[in-house]
Amino acid sequence: MRHIDPDFPISKTHSTPAKIHDFTEKLRQPALRGVVLDYVQWRRACADAEKAKTPKPEFPSLGPVSINLDLTTTCNFACGHCIDWDALNTTARHQHEDLLASLKSMHARGLKSVILLGGGEPTLYPKFADVVRFLKSLGLQVAVVTNGSRNEVIEEVAHLFTSGDWVRLSLDSGLEETFQAMHRPKSPSTTLEAICTSAKKLKSKNSNISLGFSFVITWKGASRGDEKIIENIAEMELATQWARDYDFDYISFKPFLTRASEGAEVMDPNAAQDKHEKVLKKIQDGLQKSKEVAEDSVAVIESTNLRVLLDGTWQQYLDQPKVCHMQALRQVVSPLGVFNCPAHRGVDKARIGSADAWKTELGAVGTAAMLESFDASKECKEVTCLYNPVNHWLDSLIQGEGDPADQFPEGNPLADTFL
Ligand code: SF4
Repeated sequence: MRHIDPDFPISKTHSTPAKIHDFTEKLRQPALRGVVLDYVQWRRACADAEKAKTPKPEFPSLGPVSINLDLTTTCNFACGHCIDWDALNTTARHQHEDLLASLKSMHARGLKSVILLGGGEPTLYPKFADVVRFLKSLGLQVAVVTNGSRNEVIEEVAHLFTSGDWVRLSLDSGLEETFQAMHRPKSPSTTLEAICTSAKKLKSKNSNISLGFSFVITWKGASRGDEKIIENIAEMELATQWARDYDFDYISFKPFLTRASEGAEVMDPNAAQDKHEKVLKKIQDGLQKSKEVAEDSVAVIESTNLRVLLDGTWQQYLDQPKVCHMQALRQVVSPLGVFNCPAHRGVDKARIGSADAWKTELGAVGTAAMLESFDASKECKEVTCLYNPVNHWLDSLIQGEGDPADQFPEGNPLADTFL
């Protein structure tokens, strides 16, 4: 049985992009529905208080349901296309005991899943294995996004991963030469082949792990500051062969993102050196060939960003409601602080509090304040936001009348809790 990365829910056919990330469906599952209903009722009570010019009720006893946990900003690669370049290799560190206390407190407030990733290589955190052990002892779903250079560290705790947990490797290439040029690993022994070999070993340790090969599609003309981006479109098929031959469950393709001047993560397909249509055609061809070589053993997945880029509907995802409700349900915890969204990681105006804010009431206070101050319709107007549909849905529940529970039937109890 193939395990599919919960970030990319797809249909059973191995080679189709299936559907949009269905966060609405995830929020309807019994394990999350109560949290969402409490949030909706609180927002309604706040609106009533505003009309009545009375004090607003306090933030309910909720925390994020799902977090991206950046364990470290340290990285042993120097990827030209890294979106978190500016936040890498800072001196900011988690205080380990404070981090565990924050996680415990978030768990008490309803935390269900943790994705270890971002802004650094998570396996470089000296107590990576301890953190995984701690999260699994709390019964949380766990996922890891890694550059793959230290798979042996994940292997140490591989036996703890349960069904629905996943590990995704950011590899982005099909040729060794391109892998080296794109990622610039600090150790000469870090090769695409060595990483794929150790990934296969990891999978053999525990078949519950859904193993993903992540491929950010880059094109000539794109840039990150002065850094010229290397084009890898022609290697989509080869990368799929690696994924197929080394027991990955899926390969996921997503487009290159860059940062807008005010810090938000945005797609900029018009920066391509070739005509926009030509780039899209090359990507379509790459996807087609990937599906052909995938055979029945590896799923080929298009991220929502890629799907909307290819079908020309991506502008629809730029129209956010004023309040981003998902920032109450999903946050980023990094050594630099707690942020309201991965698209604004490290950006001051998106900072909810210090890294250990959730150890105390400051997490809730900061979240309530962010919901007031952060105008997503302005701050995210250039972001192709994956949460756009679910944010509009939550907005309609809050602004609706009658019991929200009636408009919000229970969903699939088996849906994963990663948001
Ligand atoms: S609207 Fe989207 S991009 Fe903006 S903060 Fe919310 S989830 Fe992030």
